[in-house]
Amino acid sequence: MRTYEDSYRHKGLRKKLVDLLQSKGISDERVLAAINNIPRHFFLDSAFDEKAYEDKAFPIAVGQTISQPYTVAYQTQLLEPKPFDKVLEIGTGSGYQAAVLGEIGVQVFTIERQKALFDALKTFPWLKKYNQIKFFYGDGFEGLPTFAPFDKVLITAAAPYIPEKLIAQLKTGGNMVIPVGEGAVQRMLRLTKTADGSYHEEIFDNFSFVPMLGGRDGKAG
Ligand code: SAH
Repeated sequence: MRTYEDSYRHKGLRKKLVDLLQSKGISDERVLAAINNIPRHFFLDSAFDEKAYEDKAFPIAVGQTISQPYTVAYQTQLLEPKPFDKVLEIGTGSGYQAAVLGEIGVQVFTIERQKALFDALKTFPWLKKYNQIKFFYGDGFEGLPTFAPFDKVLITAAAPYIPEKLIAQLKTGGNMVIPVGEGAVQRMLRLTKTADGSYHEEIFDNFSFVPMLGGRDGKAG
């Protein structure tokens, strides 16, 4: 069960979360404003209503998670999204990260491999306000060649390696933000595609994501 009521109490908790993210080093005003504007408790079961504005990841369906607000803010800040950028997101999950990008005015193409999560987004009317977010059921390792090239690519699951097909779908000068690693902890990388089709790599902090898996999973949640 979910509730879609955004009270003054929720707004107050959200402002506190934004202050906390700022104190942890998030400085991009567009990212902070997006988090301040999005009712994160809409994305969680109402059992988590009280906890939605803690800086924590939470379980959603089929063993997946809604990322920690700090992680969402950190990745979004690294991506440096600008209004009208075309961004490919891998791992829609709850749709929260896509909403943050939508709030910034980005054109979002987001892929989820779990059918149950993809279907759940169709019954989430609030997300329809972002008509520039397009949802796809598929394998993120393949990307979306028909919609390429993208200005940016954001991976929100732990990638075992850098997917070459996604580099190919990036514009020259475009960025990919990707947590890479097969163990419990991954390294956040920002890749910038160079004119020769390869990329330049910057290394950031460690994070812990659910794994990026190949293929699609059609089981109901
Ligand atoms: N961005 C999400 C975070 C979800 S967690 C949010 O804001 O809530 C990571 C998600 O990536 C999970 O839902 C998982 O099912 C999905 N995922 C893992 N591997 C994938 C792949 N190859 N293609 C698409 N989605 C994938």
